[in-house]
Amino acid sequence: MKNRTTITVNFLLLLILLTSISVAQSPSLYIPRNIIKAYEKGTRSYDGKPGANYWVNRTDYKIQAEVFTKEHMVKGHAKIKYYNESPDTLKQLAFRLYQDINKKGNSRLTQISPSDETDGVQIDTLIINGKGFNTKERGGVFRRGTNMGVNINQTPLMPKSFLEIEIRWSVIIPRESRLRMGAYNDSTLYVAYWYPQVAVYDDIDGWDRNNYTGETEFYNDQNNYDLEITVPAGYIVWGTGAYQNLQEILKPEIYARYKEAMESDGVIRIIREEDLKNGATLKNEKTTWKLKAENVSDVSFATANSYVWDAVSAEIDDKGGRVLTDAVFPTKSKSWADVAYYAKLSVEKLSKQWPGIPFPYFKITVFNGETTGGGGMEMPMMCNNGVSGSATGQAGVTLHEIAHNYFPFYMGTNERKYAWMDEGWATFFTSAMLKDLVPGADEFTGNVIGVGKTMGIEMDLPMITPSITGGPTLGFNSYVKASVSYYVLKDVLGDDLFKKALHEYMARWKGKHPLPYDFFFTFNDVAKEDLSWFWNPWYFERGFPDLGIKNVKSKKGNAEIIVEKKGIVPVPTDLIITYADKTTEKIHKSASSWKKGNKELKVELRTKKEIQRVEIDAKLVPDANEKNNVFEMKKK
Ligand SMILES: [Zn+2]
Repeated sequence: MKNRTTITVNFLLLLILLTSISVAQSPSLYIPRNIIKAYEKGTRSYDGKPGANYWVNRTDYKIQAEVFTKEHMVKGHAKIKYYNESPDTLKQLAFRLYQDINKKGNSRLTQISPSDETDGVQIDTLIINGKGFNTKERGGVFRRGTNMGVNINQTPLMPKSFLEIEIRWSVIIPRESRLRMGAYNDSTLYVAYWYPQVAVYDDIDGWDRNNYTGETEFYNDQNNYDLEITVPAGYIVWGTGAYQNLQEILKPEIYARYKEAMESDGVIRIIREEDLKNGATLKNEKTTWKLKAENVSDVSFATANSYVWDAVSAEIDDKGGRVLTDAVFPTKSKSWADVAYYAKLSVEKLSKQWPGIPFPYFKITVFNGETTGGGGMEMPMMCNNGVSGSATGQAGVTLHEIAHNYFPFYMGTNERKYAWMDEGWATFFTSAMLKDLVPGADEFTGNVIGVGKTMGIEMDLPMITPSITGGPTLGFNSYVKASVSYYVLKDVLGDDLFKKALHEYMARWKGKHPLPYDFFFTFNDVAKEDLSWFWNPWYFERGFPDLGIKNVKSKKGNAEIIVEKKGIVPVPTDLIITYADKTTEKIHKSASSWKKGNKELKVELRTKKEIQRVEIDAKLVPDANEKNNVFEMKKK
């Protein structure tokens, strides 16, 4: 008995080992040479987990800044501690000066108004570990595009150690070309991409030296921030982090409303129109607002003196966890009256349904920057959104931007190279749950039609193409194609397994910097299947989805439908069978029907009824050519 058990156990172990090897060594996916090195160094692993040698750097920022609203300028002083967790000795530091996008002569992938051109971010003081640097591009400081490099080869930053940086700077906030932020009028500013930020140093590229061109967005470490923002009298500040001195600033009745909103299920107007007339704050001189945030990838803030402030709280778990969701907008704005409530519903749906992980931050503020035109921009704990013409649009942009707090902020994905790794999820979550915010709202159908129309055209590049290369279908790839590919995969794996894999991916990589391969391999690992048959056509190859009906044979209670896969991209098969008696039947097969590389799928049907017509239903499945979707039976 003992022996036999041992043999069985050994045999099982061997089987498990063989299975795990076959999945873990799977790369039947193309992996670029520089990324292969990460697997060799053990910072990544073919089972999708961070490797034993994985590391991630981080920064502590203590920033004091003053906003000069009339001049549209922010002046700041930062004390920064940068921790090098890598095994590398760093002889250079890389900083991002995002607003150098507006510097005269710099290249960008977006147009800006000539009136917004500046001389770039002004750096007055730069001290690293007590050593002052001449910031006029001499003495080891060089500026290229939106990056500033500093040579520290004389006193390099050793592995597992930190250095201290002191920096004084000023930046002009753009008035016309308000790319995700800006001065909306003389008394309303959204300040983002605003402080000298230590770039990401990672195991793949070393320093991230990709420029901010106006097209792609975040790639940040998880940092700690201590902010002091000084604004003129009468201005309120909303920003990333927890208020440290709100009670000392706001009038008691207004502060009481804020506290009440933290536990409230109904929207409370914290600052009302009459408060703006009578002064909402205790002081009538310039005021310093203190905020603190830990383990966030960025900080931004808004300031205005004529905006109302709505707030309510969202329940994020069964243990009474709550998140403050608030909306800040001009007094007369009608379309924004529901935004705080949309934000509450968004946080609740995201926490409990998709991705189904409690919201990672204790608050989310939705600020109305642009007062004409929709669209929006995410920042950790903040959104800067426009005005949409419809409830569906306003709720949709609210949900989408709030969803970004998971991807890329909680997860630390690299949007400059893989925008689909965050935009795809934000789009997926929105199309899955928008109907719960606004009954009848549908974003999904449009996305499916978009994939059918666009995938496989000349300008459509594979999703794996680094986003920094831009191109006309960058947006299509990142938002639409990626979100639809997640749907198709969810249909393959089923909701439970798909969610299990998503949760495992998030648990493994939160606060780190997952690559596409970490996502692919984690899903392979959890599904216990090499899903390359799916990843390759959807992410690496050029092609499109197109199913057609080749033939239908029917006799004596049996029918055989031959579905043909004419495009390389695997999609589900939705069939509608219409019988002579006008009744219909639907058949659904997931995209896994194509996993063996077969070009045909035989669907067998037992029926005594006479089939009149068989049709591929392309409403929920992208399809490049709908002309081959209908098969009419010949009249007998
Ligand atoms: Zn987005």
